[in-house]
Amino acid sequence: MQNISEIDDLIKLISKLPGLGPKSAKRIVLKLINNKEELIKPMAKVLSEVYKNISRCKICGSLKSSSNGCNGCENNKNNYNKICVVENIADQWSIESSSIYQGYFHILGGTISNSNNQKKEDLLVNSLVERIKKDNIEEVILATSATVEGQTTAFYVQDSLKNVNVKISKLAQGLPVGGEIENLDDGTLVSAFKNRKSF
Ligand SMILES: [Zn+2]
Repeated sequence: MQNISEIDDLIKLISKLPGLGPKSAKRIVLKLINNKEELIKPMAKVLSEVYKNISRCKICGSLKSSSNGCNGCENNKNNYNKICVVENIADQWSIESSSIYQGYFHILGGTISNSNNQKKEDLLVNSLVERIKKDNIEEVILATSATVEGQTTAFYVQDSLKNVNVKISKLAQGLPVGGEIENLDDGTLVSAFKNRKSF
């Protein structure tokens, strides 16, 4: 490619997306440039709307639109008695697609980790305690990954709930060690849910 700074900048940005390297980023950029009206124009509009309107809910951690409020908590009219605690939204999507679980979700927004400077204060734990009390939750299911960070985080959440009258369970240890929830197949997730243990 000729050195055109706009194109180089776009390739650099796109290659930061998950699963894409510089080579596929270049192919995407060519496709975009060859379809300015059909792709770039609507994409620029949608990106700017997402930038303006979409944010993370400070109560349940889900993504919400400023025009509709949060479907994870405030608009959720189901009367569930369970809440499943996950690290990130991709984990929620995996669990939802396995259809094993009917209940609320609570997205912590990461794990406690020494390596990426994520602090426990950054995780949505206080609002979890409030939701459990307000929604009369009977069971909290900890669905953090089978990694050191995931397990440390599960213990931290458990400790934060020690004065809350609620049953705490944890996905079964059938999870492969190092297994991240979002990468598990449906069968493994279903059996991990069915065989969950008190924690
Ligand atoms: Zn919410």
